[in-house]
Amino acid sequence: RHVVVAVDGTSGSGKSSTSRGVASRLGLRYLDTGAMYRAVAWWMLSRGVDVHDPAAVAARAGEPVIVSGTDPLAPTITVDGVDVSVEIRSDAVNAAVSPVAAVPEVRTRMVQLQRAVIGEGGIVVEGRDIGSTVAPDAQVKLFVTADPAARAQRRAAEEGGSDVAATRESLLNRDRIDSGRAVSPLTMAEGAVHLDTTPYTLDEVIDRVVGLVEA
Ligand code: C5P
Repeated sequence: RHVVVAVDGTSGSGKSSTSRGVASRLGLRYLDTGAMYRAVAWWMLSRGVDVHDPAAVAARAGEPVIVSGTDPLAPTITVDGVDVSVEIRSDAVNAAVSPVAAVPEVRTRMVQLQRAVIGEGGIVVEGRDIGSTVAPDAQVKLFVTADPAARAQRRAAEEGGSDVAATRESLLNRDRIDSGRAVSPLTMAEGAVHLDTTPYTLDEVIDRVVGLVEA
């Protein structure tokens, strides 16, 4: 099957667990585009690039070689051959990723890479701009949200018990940067279905999405 499922929304909305669950239930591949931007941010930090200097980031945007595994049960990501799956979830990367992702040279390169991975389809792709920019022809488009308290709770648990209040601040701060830039990547795409996951369990959300894909 060549279906493309575009899953956009905020961090901690349940987007990742939903995307992986849907992909594994339907035998589709999975691509986490947030992990790609995180990997670029990690690379910039590791090379001593000032992530708050867009010109400095732009100058080196072509260098990191990002490779994403697409198994929904075991997503991996490497930069220049180094697996950074764990490192990209650090506080340092949380703070650096939004300014790095706001640099047009970074976005252009990542979108190209993402389209190459999508290829003929058969994939669930999660991010901020998938339904609007990366895969505007996706057969199913979702815009996933949840209230901030629920998001912070989930994300802190995912991070292995981080402080909920600090996690909430970090999430909301990234939202502000993500939606405040000139061309915001976080907008609801034309034809997207809005899913507020706050009152639902993960299985209920996955069932709903599987239903939409199979409809
Ligand atoms: O989804 P996740 O929280 O891992 O994404 C991390 C950051 O990467 C987002 O806050 C956003 O700045 C950036 N991002 C983006 N476009 C995407 C996916 C993520 O700008 N498609």
